[in-house]
Amino acid sequence: MKSLWNAEDAASLVTHYGGMGYPAELALRIYSCRLLGSDPRLVQHGGGNTSVKMRERIVTGEDVAVIRVKGSGWNLDAIEPAGMPAMKLAALQELKSIPQMSDEAMVNAQRAALLDASAPTPSVETLLHAWVPHAVIDHTHANAVLAIVDQPDGENRARDMYADVLAICPYVMPGFALAQKVRSIVEVHPSAQGIVLLKHGIFTWGESAREAYERMIAMVTRAERAVDAASGGMTARTTGGPRQGEALAARVMPVLRGALAEDLGAGAWKRVVLDRRESPEIMRYLQHPRLQAISHRGPVTPDHVLRIKPWPLVLQGLAGMSDEELERRVRAAVNEFRLRYRQYFGRNNQRVGGDRRALDATPRVVLAPELGLIGVGSRLGEAAIAADVAQTNAEVISAAESLGEFASLSEADIFDVEYWSLEQAKLGKSTARRLAGYVVAITGGGGTIGSATARGFAREGAEVVVLDSDMQAALTTAKAVQGLALTCDVTDRGAVAGAMDSICRRYGGLDVLVSNAGSAITGTIGTVDDATLRRSFELNFFAHQTVAQAAVAIMLRQKTGGVLLFNASKQALNPGPDFGPYGVPKAAVVALAKQYAIDYGAARIRANVVNADRIRSGLLTGQMIAERAAARSLSEAQYMGGNLLGLEVRPEDVAEAFVTLALAERTTAAIVTVDGGNVAASVR
Ligand code: ZN
Repeated sequence: MKSLWNAEDAASLVTHYGGMGYPAELALRIYSCRLLGSDPRLVQHGGGNTSVKMRERIVTGEDVAVIRVKGSGWNLDAIEPAGMPAMKLAALQELKSIPQMSDEAMVNAQRAALLDASAPTPSVETLLHAWVPHAVIDHTHANAVLAIVDQPDGENRARDMYADVLAICPYVMPGFALAQKVRSIVEVHPSAQGIVLLKHGIFTWGESAREAYERMIAMVTRAERAVDAASGGMTARTTGGPRQGEALAARVMPVLRGALAEDLGAGAWKRVVLDRRESPEIMRYLQHPRLQAISHRGPVTPDHVLRIKPWPLVLQGLAGMSDEELERRVRAAVNEFRLRYRQYFGRNNQRVGGDRRALDATPRVVLAPELGLIGVGSRLGEAAIAADVAQTNAEVISAAESLGEFASLSEADIFDVEYWSLEQAKLGKSTARRLAGYVVAITGGGGTIGSATARGFAREGAEVVVLDSDMQAALTTAKAVQGLALTCDVTDRGAVAGAMDSICRRYGGLDVLVSNAGSAITGTIGTVDDATLRRSFELNFFAHQTVAQAAVAIMLRQKTGGVLLFNASKQALNPGPDFGPYGVPKAAVVALAKQYAIDYGAARIRANVVNADRIRSGLLTGQMIAERAAARSLSEAQYMGGNLLGLEVRPEDVAEAFVTLALAERTTAAIVTVDGGNVAASVR
């Protein structure tokens, strides 16, 4: 591992932050934090922490000694001065004399020492940083170091490798006790340049940001050399590679996603989103002959348990199974995992006095040698973090096994971190959005109503897939909602099947279909040519049937219900002159929705219709509005507001109706009208 320190970049950050009134030592501290954070082999996703001791002027005008420590909620790669809150150093040093302190009291003391009362809570390793008498301190969970210390004889290995420069600390849970332990060790090793924490990670320090950082790089490089010598190297992470098991993935993912959803009873589920990875390194790890054993020993560093639970679910031997066998196998494996997790909780909760609140028993990582490594989360972002952390675990475990034997913490130590009182206090405080965990596909998602609908679902926390025959339009909408864009001509059955497979491989399945694509085709019904009418039926009726059929097939494999939402039109209920080629297939769409509601109600799949009218869109352009208003001797505003409420109906109003129908858990076979009020077109 090479030092990335670049004097020019460092100087430009000093100038940048100097202009904002921050001293050079803080700017350089920020610079080295970002260097550490930029390499996932050192830290990832909020892992690791850093500090700097300096003097700052407080409100009375007095210069006091402060320590700035990484705050919770900040990642090192993107840290700013606000992410390193300052505390009075003296207030933290006073705590040295206390032999014991609860973690809650410790966090309170840290917050009470803040110069800015609104700053984020500093790392739980703050006291460790405060009590080590060096100006700049870096802490990482470097992969190569973990491969050395996550061994049954990790202490001897660490001593052989580092005894000339680093002190060594046995495993102690992070918090007050670890701070005291490290302080006592450093007191007897005053010349140490850092400390190795067995089964956890490494600290280095120095009198400048550069010194601490370059010591970190040098120490990690030593470990990397040992790993390289044993294994031929910890290869850099890559993406892509040969796509494996694609057809199997499209079949298995909805079954797996359905099994991972938690049944909340009364027709409700806590859904999850999946993120599958299949790089060559991952696939190699998954082929390990003792995958089950080595992946079940525990996390490679304690705080990973918060992201990936104590062990993954391993799913092997799926290829060649019939749909029924696959279903039985996957559900049995998930149930077995949950049972085992509940037993682990029960045993350990009893050990600590029985006051912990059980977390959900759903796996966060699935290792399936035929499919890849799959992260599980309540949102795609969370699933991706679980997959990243699991990938790091795979890398460290592989390296540790090539050196010797991978060993993790004891079960009790793992539980104590997973069920830490500070973590338990966070439970129930996050407000999940109403459609978090839902996957929604919207046809015609690049159009006016489609993109408003995509934004409406994204606001409620859903993962959104935008299907459109126009790739650019699909991409524009997908970008706005951080979703997936798929080019798809919905009148092409093969294209629809391909798109649905892509959705299953990307997210694991589908919960809501908004069948919205359509095109207004006009003509007098008595004289319209057959080809025009059939063309309209292809898009305005059969395409709805094709996407609904494909969506229902996925929903049935998940066994967690689902929602079909169709965009009909006023024409379906209140036909206008010369609009037959459009209105007749749309009337059939209303019948289609009712038929799905009848045939799949028992599977908890709902089907509803939105009947919108007079929306500015690709179907009702500015030019059409001008012409129609003129034909009726009305202003455009009068024409667009020609309803009982006298208000123009916006695409967002239609989107709201789709979202509402997705949320209305006891509503099926319903038509919701969004037209500002038109009794002639109302449902009778
Ligand atoms: Zn740590």
